[in-house]
Amino acid sequence: MMKLAEAQWMGLLDRSGTRPMLREDGSLELYESEAEFRASLSGWAARERFGIGFRHIEGEDLAGLQPGLSPRFVKGTFVPGWKTVADPKLLGKAVWAYAQSKGARFEMARIDRVAADQDGAVLTLADGTTRQAGRLVVAAGAWSHLLARQLGDRIPLETERGYNTTLPSSAFDVKRQLIFSGHGFVITPLDTGLRVGGAVELGGIERPPNFNRSKALLRKARQFLPGLDASGGREWMGFRPSLPDSVPVIGKAPGAPSVVYAFGHGHLGLTQAAATGRLIRELVLGQDASVDLAPFSPQRF
Ligand SMILES: Cc1cc2nc3c(=O)[nH]c(=O)nc-3n(C[C@H](O)[C@H](O)[C@H](O)COP(=O)(O)OP(=O)(O)OC[C@H]3O[C@@H](n4cnc5c(N)ncnc54)[C@H](O)[C@@H]3O)c2cc1C
Repeated sequence: MMKLAEAQWMGLLDRSGTRPMLREDGSLELYESEAEFRASLSGWAARERFGIGFRHIEGEDLAGLQPGLSPRFVKGTFVPGWKTVADPKLLGKAVWAYAQSKGARFEMARIDRVAADQDGAVLTLADGTTRQAGRLVVAAGAWSHLLARQLGDRIPLETERGYNTTLPSSAFDVKRQLIFSGHGFVITPLDTGLRVGGAVELGGIERPPNFNRSKALLRKARQFLPGLDASGGREWMGFRPSLPDSVPVIGKAPGAPSVVYAFGHGHLGLTQAAATGRLIRELVLGQDASVDLAPFSPQRF
């Protein structure tokens, strides 16, 4: 899936003219002790088996890749091939504009009811009107299981809520994505600001955000980059749609072959979006799938 993800994104970035929004300056994972570094090694060995290049560094090399880091970080791992994007929202909008140029249409409405059979689906919108579809793709993120249940499928979708704060770009000169695995967050330089984000909160889809979590990450960021100006930030909370085995659901609804499910991408929804798009297309057109779809089956639970 991850190989397909990379290939599909590269193709989509080229076709949609959004390649300049891809950043290829790598990532730097940081450790506060030899013990933490050693504990990471089995994970790096696994990545090596999948052909991912990396370099463990320390001392001047570490300071060179990210000047201004707190001395508490004694080692790091640089992954030169790690890719990030200039701004996920702007990339999403640009890809959507490309889809529109190909004939896609957007209608914003809440779907209250969904019903389907062999031949198609009927959607009932919140305003009471209906829409008929020959094929339906349910890709409603953390809310998808509510629609799937109406089609007779019980899928144990949960949400891992995450938080971030986007600071002005002038907050600190961060050279590439910094990953603090021991603390569960990252600092990412975007074209539109410096994003300090992560955290996992099992808080469901109803409760209001608890922005103390964003503030806690920001406090840590100030310790890790002592010169960081933490003022003027914009806080955000989002819903990662997650399944118990951390693998998305991609496949036909068991009781309604006109419906395709595509949700539950958890922490990797942006990364896997183009691959999932391709798999949806193959399912809808009845083509052979690019990867074995068995692990993604909606019936695996
Ligand atoms: C803090 C944070 C950091 C993240 N970082 C990364 C990262 O670095 N890389 C990465 O790959 N991923 C990352 N993710 C994960 C990624 O954001 C998600 O996996 C992705 O957004 C899921 O996309 P989706 O289209 O499935 O769902 P969503 O983006 O949630 O879209 C679903 C849409 O369906 C709509 N909807 C739901 N129900 C209905 C209904 N009944 N009627 C009408 N509309 C409906 C919702 O309003 C929503 O607009 C991160 C997430 C968070 C929270």
